[in-house]
Amino acid sequence: MKNILFVASECVPFIKTGGLADVAGALPKSLDKNKYDVRVVLPDYACIPEKYRNEFQYVHHFYMDLGKLGDVYVGIMTCQLDGITYYFIDNQHYFSDPKPYGDIHWDIEKFCYFSKAALAILPVVGFHPDVIHCHDWQTGVLPVMLHTVFKSNPFFHNIRTIMTIHNLKFQGVWDIETMKLYTNLPDDVFITGRMEFKKDANMLKGGLVYADRITTVSDTYAWEIQLPYYGEGLDGLLYAKRNTLSGIVNGIDYDIYNPETDPKIVSNYTAKTVTAGKKKNKMELQKELGLPVDPDVMMIGMITRLTDQKGFDLVEWVIGRLLQSHIQLVVLGTGDDKYENLFRHLEWSHKDKVSSSIYFNDERAHKIYASSDAILMPSRFEPCGLTQLIALRYGTVPIVRETGGLKDTVEPYNEFAQTGTGFSFANYNADEMLASIFYAEQVYYDNRKAWDDMVLRGMAKDFSWNSSAKKYEALYDSL
Ligand code: ADP
Repeated sequence: MKNILFVASECVPFIKTGGLADVAGALPKSLDKNKYDVRVVLPDYACIPEKYRNEFQYVHHFYMDLGKLGDVYVGIMTCQLDGITYYFIDNQHYFSDPKPYGDIHWDIEKFCYFSKAALAILPVVGFHPDVIHCHDWQTGVLPVMLHTVFKSNPFFHNIRTIMTIHNLKFQGVWDIETMKLYTNLPDDVFITGRMEFKKDANMLKGGLVYADRITTVSDTYAWEIQLPYYGEGLDGLLYAKRNTLSGIVNGIDYDIYNPETDPKIVSNYTAKTVTAGKKKNKMELQKELGLPVDPDVMMIGMITRLTDQKGFDLVEWVIGRLLQSHIQLVVLGTGDDKYENLFRHLEWSHKDKVSSSIYFNDERAHKIYASSDAILMPSRFEPCGLTQLIALRYGTVPIVRETGGLKDTVEPYNEFAQTGTGFSFANYNADEMLASIFYAEQVYYDNRKAWDDMVLRGMAKDFSWNSSAKKYEALYDSL
């Protein structure tokens, strides 16, 4: 039996802002329970829904030394769900905001505290992990602390660490003096080659330097981040550590995302009934959104954060030409003001073609997956991407840029061999994107048999957690 500890800043079903939460929620459940005792540490955010928080049980509390910040309260709450033990770090000063993240400066202090507390509770709850699996910059200082301020305590010997990068763009960078104050880490940690980064301190870099293994969420992204274009300033370090760096693609939760049983969609369907099923869903959604009801028009969905990462500058560049073609565009997302306003405006100026839902709504997301014929993801970079995996499961054809996980999970359509599960383009270029969309429209309208076959090939792919969990198990065993 191996003990595995996950430390993350978000986790389904408790709290979610992005794909990290899906991974932290699904992966522990997917590991072999006979071989691994998996526990998860999360912040006890006040914004976790009551129905979960009411189930939390108090374990213990103590005061933790945070250097110049003094002794700080650490409460431990716990609950069990699907055979996994969760620990929640309780501290109202840090975790009572209405959202998990906000002001970056405050977030940095918060997650320095959280990372240290996640280690400090272990002797108290009596769990000695063989492996601590850290996720993203919020937990980056944990491996650093393990190898420095916790080193003198024998309880913390023989613990291996893995740092998983879900998105390299976010690193947790602040000036060195402030970071020293929040972490109480020794001076020699803040040198080039350790946490120092362009004269500041970088939490994720600390994790990458001190962790025994680094993983990211697709093979292609693992390779891309060793290049300056994708490396966000850490490409040199990642290249140097490439022998301990690997990519394991995410899965999706096949219980939650299943068109056959999904309670959030109007009409359930299987691969056998997909054509009729999607039409029914489409017509209901068109009614709900105030779009012209027409089962035969090609509906293109976008369910995503509205940011530059997701390729919205490309969409903006060609939107006029795109909307001249016979499609309906259904957008669900929040993000940068300029893109939120762009889509609000488009809904107003193209009522018969565009629907924009500028908020976060899980039910609406499921309905769009079930109703759309295609999903558009022209990302500048995409570590893994879950949206295209969910789309494939719902018989919705992805149109993607060939980067990161999109490249690894969407096989481009080949009209001669009649293979492939989606459409893709290589360069970050709006005209290339538009050409791919027009090509998809052409197949959809003029070669319906080829389109329907592609839908079935996509639905037949297996992106459940099974195979990815096996890869993580192999990684844990190798440590
Ligand atoms: P990222 O983690 O970079 O935001 P992913 O594709 O990995 O992108 O994961 C996004 C997840 O969040 C998907 O499950 C997607 O359906 C969901 N999602 C994104 N925006 C919204 C929204 N506005 N409403 C509901 N779900 C959303």
